[in-house]
Amino acid sequence: MNLIKTKTEIAKYVSEKKAQKSTIGFVPTMGALHQGHASLIDFGLERHDYIIVSIFVNPTQFNNASDLEKYPRTLDQDASFLGKYKNRIAIYAPTAQEVYGPDVISKQYNFKGIETVMEGTHRPGHFDGVGTVLNHLFRQVNPDEAFFGEKDFQQLLIVKKLVEIEKLPLKITGCPIHRQENGLAMSSRNARLTPQQLEEATFIYKILHQVNKDFKNKSASKLRKWVTGQFNENPHLKLEYFEISNVKNLKPLSRKRKNQKYRAFIAAFAGEIRLIDNMAVN
Ligand code: AMP
Repeated sequence: MNLIKTKTEIAKYVSEKKAQKSTIGFVPTMGALHQGHASLIDFGLERHDYIIVSIFVNPTQFNNASDLEKYPRTLDQDASFLGKYKNRIAIYAPTAQEVYGPDVISKQYNFKGIETVMEGTHRPGHFDGVGTVLNHLFRQVNPDEAFFGEKDFQQLLIVKKLVEIEKLPLKITGCPIHRQENGLAMSSRNARLTPQQLEEATFIYKILHQVNKDFKNKSASKLRKWVTGQFNENPHLKLEYFEISNVKNLKPLSRKRKNQKYRAFIAAFAGEIRLIDNMAVN
């Protein structure tokens, strides 16, 4: 296992591998690794000789100081979690100064409307932070392909746009959401939930599942009403938003159109922990 902390070293590592005609996949993460991250790594290892996993809790994408402070940081545990992959994995775990230089600030992006809905509305500045850090990391790591989870579906679309805007020479690939057996989407934030909250949080999956079942026969506005009602009756979870959107541009669904694909999205709080999930509905 290679643990690399500087951009000079990561550039050297990657150029040596590329000189041997090896290809490099990249899985950017904020650490506290779980099976969801592992599913991205496994996906990447089928296509590339080496995978670089970055572990960096990016300050500019947090709009809530307490969320940033309490975000789990478990580098030693993460390194042992990746131990089984042996030398096909390198961890890139830089400091903020290493990633950004002296000024840890976001660039302002125009992602053509994808950034103004859902997460963009509720987490101001979030996607500028995501775009800025990934622009730095992509340039430092210089991978052939990077893998992102559909768990953060809006982020996946943002990253595809970012690569276009910055004209970066890499492919962006989305990977399916990895869930626990009870349906709960795996997330680093789950580590902050009590056993009881972990159980209660499966409600989010159950609602998405039902929306998926009802999508054919009910209008979007009926479904929105039903979901809001269900959350209002649930004392354990507070709904922040529910949306059904076109998968291409994330525009909220008003009238279903043939040949268009839609997904349902939920953000909800279990206590102070914010959880997101989504599901394809047709
Ligand atoms: P994070 O460490 O939460 O920033 O996530 C790093 C990457 O892992 C992102 O591309 C996420 O979408 C992805 N990811 C996180 N949880 C899951 C999951 N349950 N299934 C699939 N991908 C995930």
